[in-house]
Amino acid sequence: MPPASNVDGGAGECSNGSVNEDLESRLRALPSVDQVLQRPRIGQRINGAGRSLVVAETRAVLERLRAALRGGLSPHIDSVDLLERAERQVIERLDGLASPSLRPVINATGVVLHTNLGRAPLSAEAVQAISGTARGYTNLEYDLGSGRRGKRDVHAAALLEKLLNAPAIVVNNNAAAIFLVLHAIAAGGEVVVSRGELIEIGDGFRIPDIMAGSGAKLREVGTTNRTRISDYRDAVGEATRLLMRVHPSNFRMVGFTARPRLEELVQLGAEFGLPVVDDLGSGCLYDFSREGFRDEPPVVESLRAGVDLVTFSGDKLLGGPQAGIIAGKPEWVRRVRRNPLFRALRVDKLTCAALEATLRDCLFGRYDRVPVLRMIRQTAEGIQARAEKFIAALRFGDQVSIDLKPGSSVLGGGSTPEQSVPTMLVRLRCNGGVRITDVENALRKGSPPVIARIENDSLLIDLRTVLEDEEEALAACLARALDRSN
Ligand SMILES: *Cc1c(COP(=O)(O)O)cnc(C)c1O
Repeated sequence: MPPASNVDGGAGECSNGSVNEDLESRLRALPSVDQVLQRPRIGQRINGAGRSLVVAETRAVLERLRAALRGGLSPHIDSVDLLERAERQVIERLDGLASPSLRPVINATGVVLHTNLGRAPLSAEAVQAISGTARGYTNLEYDLGSGRRGKRDVHAAALLEKLLNAPAIVVNNNAAAIFLVLHAIAAGGEVVVSRGELIEIGDGFRIPDIMAGSGAKLREVGTTNRTRISDYRDAVGEATRLLMRVHPSNFRMVGFTARPRLEELVQLGAEFGLPVVDDLGSGCLYDFSREGFRDEPPVVESLRAGVDLVTFSGDKLLGGPQAGIIAGKPEWVRRVRRNPLFRALRVDKLTCAALEATLRDCLFGRYDRVPVLRMIRQTAEGIQARAEKFIAALRFGDQVSIDLKPGSSVLGGGSTPEQSVPTMLVRLRCNGGVRITDVENALRKGSPPVIARIENDSLLIDLRTVLEDEEEALAACLARALDRSN
């Protein structure tokens, strides 16, 4: 949508007898819908966009102008001005409707899993799989072998089973996975969770709310920083349906903290005949301890510890499309799969296609094909080499200076966002005349938009999250933004 067009809001006038007359005459100067429609540029748009849409937009624009006049739009404005203004605004609104609202941006922030920027960029293979299945019909729920009805589950399931050594099902996202698991297993009963794990993952997504919506009652145990296995044991009662652990994704507690090991929870579950569910959040299939990250346990570790079910996202460290994966002991996976709400949370064919392609790369160890993994595994030296080449090719006047500065990239995306890796930043500083906030603004509003950060009066570009084939476009965007902010 186009940004709301501004009308100059004049200062409110003092009330006296002439104000109403003045307002009346200004409102009379407002053009009619037909007058606007008769403008030649609008006439052309009627051919392209259809009359009813153009009429609706014209009405909306005139309504806004009327409100602005009532609110004191500059008094000297005349009917010709108003007509031109209305015409311009109608064109702007139609242009806005005609261009995509969701579009590609260049992520120069260095935040690999940037939730606001759509999390994981997909591999070329995943993109190809999407376009291959999007165009026509597919065997989504059709068994080509028997010629009978099949299940959409099968496409990712075989690969997940190989990777996790456990059966798995896929839903829309991890929030849906948690919801479905709780609803299927614990609705009407209680779920025991540590108080220290009741997290909020941006945008008001809170585990307690999901639980409430699922019909399960939350039984919080322990204190924010310390929970012992005896706290869980004391909370288990008649109503308990499951024990749950949540990966404290977007905060890390340091200092005087404690929580039981997964094995202890599993043991307690076995003692009382209660399932244990581990919400991993990110869910790595790749072992990040090789990269020196301590806080992202691979999914298989939880399963090996004996938990009954794990849940994790498809578009965090897995590097695939938005999805939620539920895996674990066959009887529990079956029980969740049988729940009628599974139907409401299932994934579409495009997600199936992209997930399958991503999982195949993981299975065959082709980690560098998956952009998220490739980005995270890039060394600071590798990024420095790219950054040196990048700035050597930049052409800019003496209004800015550009150099390199060591810094850090973060994983982000509610997946241990504090977890950072060293990088080499391209730093842009202004030498006067130009303001760095104007450069940032011009970059953000450019085509394609570039999202970068400002820190201490410098604009910082982290090439870690810029795809190699975006570098040329990024250089061109920078040149244009500097031009425009001059
Ligand atoms: C990110 C996250 C979720 C939510 O996952 P979505 O795929 O965004 O729905 C749930 N739990 C944890 C621990 C997370 O990190």
